[in-house]
Amino acid sequence: MKDVSHFIGGKHVKGTSGRFADGYQPMTGEVISKIALASKAEVRAAVENSMAAQPAWAATNPQRRARVFMKFLQLMERENEALAELLAREHGKTIPDAKGDILRGIEVVEFALGAPHLLKGEFTDGAGPGIDMYSMRQPLGVVAGITPFNFPAMIPMWKFAPAIACGNAFILKPSERAPGVPMRLAELMIEAGLPAGILNVVNGDKESVDALLDDPDIKAIGFVGSTSIAEYVYSRGTATGKRVQCFGGAKNHMVIMPDADMNQAVDALIGAGCGSAGERCMAISVAVPVGKGTADALMQKLIPRVEALKIGPSTDVSADYGPLVTKEALERVKSYVDIGVKEGANLVVDGRGFKMQGYEKGFYLGGCLFDNVTKDMRIYKEEIFGPVLSVLRANTYGEALKLCNDHEYGNGVAIYTRDGDAARDFASKVQVGMIGVNVPIPVPLAYYTFGGWKRSGFGDLNQHGPDSFRFYTKTKTITARWPSGVKEGAEFSIPTMG
Ligand code: NAD
Repeated sequence: MKDVSHFIGGKHVKGTSGRFADGYQPMTGEVISKIALASKAEVRAAVENSMAAQPAWAATNPQRRARVFMKFLQLMERENEALAELLAREHGKTIPDAKGDILRGIEVVEFALGAPHLLKGEFTDGAGPGIDMYSMRQPLGVVAGITPFNFPAMIPMWKFAPAIACGNAFILKPSERAPGVPMRLAELMIEAGLPAGILNVVNGDKESVDALLDDPDIKAIGFVGSTSIAEYVYSRGTATGKRVQCFGGAKNHMVIMPDADMNQAVDALIGAGCGSAGERCMAISVAVPVGKGTADALMQKLIPRVEALKIGPSTDVSADYGPLVTKEALERVKSYVDIGVKEGANLVVDGRGFKMQGYEKGFYLGGCLFDNVTKDMRIYKEEIFGPVLSVLRANTYGEALKLCNDHEYGNGVAIYTRDGDAARDFASKVQVGMIGVNVPIPVPLAYYTFGGWKRSGFGDLNQHGPDSFRFYTKTKTITARWPSGVKEGAEFSIPTMG
């Protein structure tokens, strides 16, 4: 059994709160670690440690800061296999999927290498008579990130890479369900040359999150997780004057037009719906075929594919997906399937009885497929976060578009069609943050920004890309003139540039 503690000032620090959580290996259902849960005092110790380290880091020039990330990338190459295995064992996703999780984080680290360029200010020579004007971006100080279980490598890197590259110190509070990889990332950043205290990790639950939200010395919070907690973090964090961005849950639709290539649409749907056991905020959970003929053709191809899904332990590289993260998550998803049946949806593939031979205590669920789902059902309105696909039949394109727009979530969406006009109209009118045209999981690359609309996102700026450099810095604008440009006499009216 492994003890997972905190990582403060470049060292592992034992938890002193006396509170712990069990860490599971989802593929076997075994408890493999004991995770310390930080108290308010332990969070404060991490903040003070970060505060002491941050000014020197902010004064380090941006190329030198970026060089730490260059070295970190080399270490990530060395550690790739070991990290992917650790991630798969702790989270439950398969090893190839874990490698994707790591890579999508690495891409944001690569983007952060551009800090010297991205932090450049603006300059206007001669903004007025003898006057120059310029702006600069400065770090905020100590900032924190609170991350979910479902991307234990990617989301911590999305948060800490731009924050640290901007000259901030960062405190990470990873999910208590998968803290091993985030802890390892912090160790590797120190090995890469990051000064102690610039990346601290506190493990914990609500108590540590509240301590971060209320701490007056934390200047910004980046959160990713479920919508109810995102909303809570946003309101409590902003109430204490922090800059806060929160990314929440999702219900991502795939609209399938009558002219779509049905084989491609079905491949996309099954991968995006059931990959990672459906535990992705960009998973497709609702298919919306347009027209009866499209719906019937879809179901004919989709049913055998859901029935044939290969579920396996996380170490089976040929598995389509592995177990869910915890027994509670499994029970929760199963209970949604029960609800769907009670609500009158047609459960055409039922994975509730699935048992993984040799791994009977693991948290496995077979693929589930509902047809004839309607928009008033809870299984449509709420995020299930499991390998459960709902098919909601629309009569027209307009009806399909309206469904996407009326849903309270607006993270990702996809349209499958060969018609450029329909795709263009959809991209323009749909009220969703990230859109795929014949692309099922349209996660933008690191140099664009990532963020959902409606109740999938709270705050003004997105994650990664140029927005992350704006989020983690404050802008200052300087208006300067030298004595030779100063006219004699006091001026009492508002200054203008003449
Ligand atoms: P979660 O909301 O349970 O936990 C997220 C974080 O909040 C964790 O660090 C957790 O310790 C903390 N937390 C949990 N309960 C809390 C409470 N009562 N008060 C304060 N903090 C609390 O989310 P999860 O189950 O770890 O992750 C899955 C969710 O995250 C899904 O809803 C998924 O859609 C969402 N997600 C969103 C995005 C996005 O970018 N929009 C990306 C990934 C995941």
